[in-house]
Amino acid sequence: MNQSGFLPRADLQRLIDRLRREHADCLGPQVRDEAIVFASLERAEQLPFGYLDRQRPGSYRLEFGDSERAFAWANGPQALKPLVFEPEQPMWHSVRDPDGSLQFHPVPAKPSSLAVIGVRACDLAALALQDAHFLEEPGDPWYAARREGLFLVAVHCTHPAETCFCASTGDGPSCGAGFDLALHELDEGFIVEVGSDAGQAVFEALQTLPVAPGQRAAAEAQQARAAEVQQRRLPAPARLAELMQAATDPHWEEVAERCLSCGNCTAVCPSCFCHRHAETPALDPSRSGHARVWDSCFSAAHSLLHGRPLRAQTAQRYRQWLTHKLAGWQVQYGRIGCVGCGRCISWCPVGIDLTAEVDAILGEVHD
Ligand code: SF4
Ligand code: SF4
Repeated sequence: MNQSGFLPRADLQRLIDRLRREHADCLGPQVRDEAIVFASLERAEQLPFGYLDRQRPGSYRLEFGDSERAFAWANGPQALKPLVFEPEQPMWHSVRDPDGSLQFHPVPAKPSSLAVIGVRACDLAALALQDAHFLEEPGDPWYAARREGLFLVAVHCTHPAETCFCASTGDGPSCGAGFDLALHELDEGFIVEVGSDAGQAVFEALQTLPVAPGQRAAAEAQQARAAEVQQRRLPAPARLAELMQAATDPHWEEVAERCLSCGNCTAVCPSCFCHRHAETPALDPSRSGHARVWDSCFSAAHSLLHGRPLRAQTAQRYRQWLTHKLAGWQVQYGRIGCVGCGRCISWCPVGIDLTAEVDAILGEVHD
């Protein structure tokens, strides 16, 4: 078991102060535009104390209740992804010299130092998937610099949304690895667990109290409950691999009648990493900027080959997304590309639910 101690709720500010001293910024969940997102955190009172969320296919609502907890909600639309895989990453700019030759100037990766409080188990799992993609040799220098500077304070999830299914993918609701510190939130405060050497140093400075047996039991009970209440699930990976044999299933066309090809699902997905390269020339032809920009397998241009889209129809794009994420990813990265966060279900404007679509295509029947 990880080293742990108890931090009274009134002492949470000491953790924030410490992280702010050691890092260029500290982010924590806060309410913005009626959703919980990460924003710069200075005071513990900025955390969403008392908020609960209601999520279902195509719907996300916050409610203010009488809970005294800061983390009694499931993930909002934002994952860790934009903190390491920037939506638009300048890569180089080119300049035309007076003699007509082109000079290319790379954009260097800058060292980064960022602490994040409130990371959930599903997002730690998704970050490991992003690492597998972006840190594989030769590695992406901009991603690597941001990743190197991350200090992660995770929170074991106690209030999964109706759309969550991390228990069935094996990625939550408890945080297993990938954090520096992890918190169990109890009514009276937090059990703090150490997950890394950097986390150990912060833990020692916090001078926590011993964890009482009753507090440990309460933490275990709420974790077990958080797994039990999840209703959605995905079949086992071996069964999901059979999606590759379902290329001509008529159900893809049925999904396409509802799917808008908007790409919301890929934008909110913490593990999707598709991108394109964009050139931004100056008005005169003297210079041009080159950037890597988020893209989606739902955009028509993403499958262009010699000027023609390989996947011109929405049914082909939805099939590509689902089969790559749940079957092809197993070959590429040794596991499925879904961590069960449920964001693509809540934030799909027409409420398409990938667990239901998988069941329809594979003919799964659950209890
Ligand atoms: S596919 Fe959906 S549920 Fe799975 S990780 Fe992406 S957003 Fe979350
Ligand atoms: S599944 Fe939903 S979110 Fe994804 S592209 Fe289709 S309509 Fe948009």
